[in-house]
Amino acid sequence: MATTGKSAAVSHVGKVRSNNQDSGYAGRHLFVVADGMGGHAGGDVASAIAVKRIAETDREYASPNDAEFALRTALLAANALLAETVFEHGELTGMGTTVSGMLRVGNNFALAHIGDSRIYLFRNGVLEQATADHTFVQRLVDSGRITAEEAAVHPRRSVLMRVLGDVDASPEIDTTVLATEPGDRWLICSDGLSSYVTEEKIQAVLATVPGAQDAADRLVKESLDQGAPDNVTIVLVDVDESGDSSHVPPVTVGSAAEPLVFEADSIRRPLRLPSLLLHPLKTTPTDDSHFEPESDEYLAALIQEDRRRARKRRISWLAFVLIVIAGLVAASVLGYQFTQRHYFVGEVDGRVTIFQGVQQDIGPITLSHVYKTTTIDVIDLPLYYQQQVEATLNAGSLAEAQGIVDRLSDARKP
Ligand code: CA
Repeated sequence: MATTGKSAAVSHVGKVRSNNQDSGYAGRHLFVVADGMGGHAGGDVASAIAVKRIAETDREYASPNDAEFALRTALLAANALLAETVFEHGELTGMGTTVSGMLRVGNNFALAHIGDSRIYLFRNGVLEQATADHTFVQRLVDSGRITAEEAAVHPRRSVLMRVLGDVDASPEIDTTVLATEPGDRWLICSDGLSSYVTEEKIQAVLATVPGAQDAADRLVKESLDQGAPDNVTIVLVDVDESGDSSHVPPVTVGSAAEPLVFEADSIRRPLRLPSLLLHPLKTTPTDDSHFEPESDEYLAALIQEDRRRARKRRISWLAFVLIVIAGLVAASVLGYQFTQRHYFVGEVDGRVTIFQGVQQDIGPITLSHVYKTTTIDVIDLPLYYQQQVEATLNAGSLAEAQGIVDRLSDARKP
């Protein structure tokens, strides 16, 4: 292929898979790789939806922080779009996608990342990973339980802890801003490269093959030479003196380059709640080619991690419910106290009686009670007072109520 352009995007289905679930994009300012997964047809849809949505951020930004914010927002929007798509197409339930993307702003790249695709910076002959894998084995490495070398060949290295999809309404997305300089080569790749081609090999290719397109093609070939069991996608960005690394016109590769295909006859379920609400505790896609359950200690720890997250969410919910209940109780107590500062005079069993509270009832709750029964028989009062007592006489305070009782006492018929 030609070596024109300072960036390149290549995607290959590999030698084993029947369809390409990866998507890639190299544009004017934006560069992205997404690796989809899940369902019999979901992975390609997931990565395509994500890349198409995120490609909308391919424009100039006033500052790297603006770009970082735009990228994060786009990933969250893509996440919501995936949930919406699953809502409309139930057969896609469980689909998800990794996303590793970067936006160029002058001498900086704003990065956003979730999953196990990777962004590498090759500078002065040294290859360095700029993103952290959101994989289960990476957690084991971080906690000191296995070494990075063990992780690289671990049979469960594809088990993902975080992705975009219909499983989490607010996924944790890593973002950062990194400086760049002429001579830098930035590589974004799916695990179809990084899981099968060693970093030494990748570094050697970037050190020896000039031209973004040629280097990207060569990296795909390295993966094919390793048997390419997975889809492989490469986006390569060369930063040169001109300060430009754009690809004009932008190129889209992988499933995002194809028209989106859905099963047209999928049954709509109008009463179905959004899956986000139905599965608030589900953090890992279950119908996922990356997810291979096995009852070893790693899975046990994985489950523990899921439980910990679920517990955290349950605790948040519980706290919320308790706060609401406490609020209602406080309001009721205050309201009740307010009513109990009032008194009125009425009658019980023919006797003039002082009540504390107000005469309104809230449902089954009575907001007043007998405070004091007097010895004054209502029948002994003049008719006019009798009617007043039956209708009850309001008092602003106990003293006022007592005053009313005194007047009634004085008014008794001789
Ligand atoms: Ca993959």
